[in-house]
Amino acid sequence: MARIETKCVQSGYTPKNGEPRQIPIIQSTTFKYDTSEDMGKLFDLEASGYFYTRLQNPTNDMVAAKLCDMEGGTAAMLTSSGQAANFFAVFNIANCGDHVVACSAIYGGTYNLFAVTMKKMGIDFTFVSPDCTQEELDAAFRPNTKAVFGETIANPALCVLDIEMFAKTAHAHGVPFIIDNTFATPVNCRPIEWGADIVTHSTTKYIDGHGASVGGAIIDAGRFDWMAHADKFPGLCTPDESYHGITYATKFGKEGAFITKCTAQLMRDFGSIQSPQNAFYLNLGLESLHVRMKRHCENGQAVAEYLQQSDKVSWVNYSGLPGDKYYERARKYLPNGGCGVVSFGVKGGRAAAEKFMKSLKLIAIETHVADARSCCLHPANATHRQMNDEELAACGITPDLVRLSCGIENVQDLIEDLEQALNRI
Ligand SMILES: *Cc1c(COP(=O)(O)O)cnc(C)c1O
Repeated sequence: MARIETKCVQSGYTPKNGEPRQIPIIQSTTFKYDTSEDMGKLFDLEASGYFYTRLQNPTNDMVAAKLCDMEGGTAAMLTSSGQAANFFAVFNIANCGDHVVACSAIYGGTYNLFAVTMKKMGIDFTFVSPDCTQEELDAAFRPNTKAVFGETIANPALCVLDIEMFAKTAHAHGVPFIIDNTFATPVNCRPIEWGADIVTHSTTKYIDGHGASVGGAIIDAGRFDWMAHADKFPGLCTPDESYHGITYATKFGKEGAFITKCTAQLMRDFGSIQSPQNAFYLNLGLESLHVRMKRHCENGQAVAEYLQQSDKVSWVNYSGLPGDKYYERARKYLPNGGCGVVSFGVKGGRAAAEKFMKSLKLIAIETHVADARSCCLHPANATHRQMNDEELAACGITPDLVRLSCGIENVQDLIEDLEQALNRI
């Protein structure tokens, strides 16, 4: 079987004799059939094929197949954004009246989706620390719990999750473990190998990698036995009247039930499809992902080491630094490196961090992360500027915190830019 670097370049599409070498962009909303019977079979999910790009498109499916192979799953789909991927992954199995256990250290947009928007839909979330013990995690479950959710490397907290412990505990309670693998990418971590059931991505970050297109993905490991917990998952284990009484878990098995239901119901009803053009860009990003991740991590490591010895910096978070809280866990789950995002504190607090940011020349101020170009954010003065120091502390952000996303430039140039800006404080 091919290794991850080869999968980045080649998986998902194998042209036949005389066919295009690069994946074709099927820029078509609809597909033509000879008879109504042919089309009817698609609507009944009796045959696989395409009829309308709001649900499925061949270009998207080629790219989803590549991601599926890279993560080691059995089925996958692309979505219009990472937000749509996480929403679909959870909403596919949790209904009004259900409950989900989620890590508290997750992307702010996901936290909002869960704690505010999905709460309005009648789904309750209990947030647990990413560093909780198994007993603490056990205590968060309720009879109506349907899933556990976490991030491999939390954005922006940079916590590294104990994936095995979270997956085992979820399974002991008869529910799947869903993990957002955006920051690590399947190049640096494949959560399915550690027991995760459903993997999600914001492909907007490293996978696209060039700040060109917003997108998301969901990959199913194909191992969770829905039928063994049929009482918890009626949506997968009882007939779907909107599809002529199909029962997903029996018709498509462990390997296909989750993604088929997600496509047939959620994509049909919400239409959060990625455009085939964006899927094409995503595939270009994937072709060099393994080369870029290596450089992102090398640059992240060198920059973290530089910052650690600087007398203008009070603290540095980077799981590749010996002595970092997550160093040992990162050695287990991320032996080839985690990501290029480093967070640190500038001595002198909010004002010093502001002066530092203003003085950067090469590193741009952006809310984005995980891009080929280095970028930097001072949350206390940007995304969280309406908060005072006490309010910041409550969401785990200190006034001096700077989040730096190391790109793939020459690392000496990055360090020189940091140094001149630190010297201006
Ligand atoms: C950015 C991000 C998301 C949301 O993705 P979008 O593509 O912006 O919708 C979800 N999870 C993580 C970890 C992210 O970094």
